[in-house]
Amino acid sequence: MLNICRICFTSPILTRNQLPFCVSCSNELAELRLYNSNCKLTFVAAPNSEIQSLWRYRGVIRELILRAKVKRDCAALRHLVSLVESCDEVQSLVNWSDVIIPAPSSLWGRVHGSLDIASQVAHQLSKKTGKTISTAPSDLYWRWRKQARRGRESRVDEDLIEMSILKLRRSFLKWFGSNNGSVPSFPNRVLLIDDVVTSGATLSKTARALKDRGAGVVRCLTIARSYT
Ligand SMILES: [Zn+2]
Repeated sequence: MLNICRICFTSPILTRNQLPFCVSCSNELAELRLYNSNCKLTFVAAPNSEIQSLWRYRGVIRELILRAKVKRDCAALRHLVSLVESCDEVQSLVNWSDVIIPAPSSLWGRVHGSLDIASQVAHQLSKKTGKTISTAPSDLYWRWRKQARRGRESRVDEDLIEMSILKLRRSFLKWFGSNNGSVPSFPNRVLLIDDVVTSGATLSKTARALKDRGAGVVRCLTIARSYT
């Protein structure tokens, strides 16, 4: 078992490889990797922001992400974290940043017990480099589900369940006296981390919220992106 590839569980591990994967899985990882210009996406919704992704959301990467997220497989999560840490651009993005923030998990994900990969990766990067970690504005944690979890045809700008939840929450805060005066303010350079980017809607929304609270430049790093 020990010398078997941790992705496909069939072929032996490549000994010269630092990661416990076989030849074919390592080759697939290399093929799915996105470099420099083709991995960046500047999005319209929030100026001075960009999304940088490390891999295409396919094959072995998709398998590791789903294994970690849906099955809460700790080994898969560990391999993902090692893979992310081994990328040069991750190191330079972390060095550039003043603070690391994981993209807020959706209510849907929490209800269904999905593992929060973004938060785990962000904490690991912070632990390794000593960079400060923070959380996104709390409103964003009340989103019902990501647009990406829907079919393409059923994507909407406003989710009815989400709107009702947020409305309830606002009335609750109003009636039970939590003051909205204590809005946290964010430093100039923010590194926002997420697992997969599909429409970019969650990251755009989060980036805008961070900018409203003082962030100058928001750079988003995602492990994978699901569009080509
Ligand atoms: Zn393999």
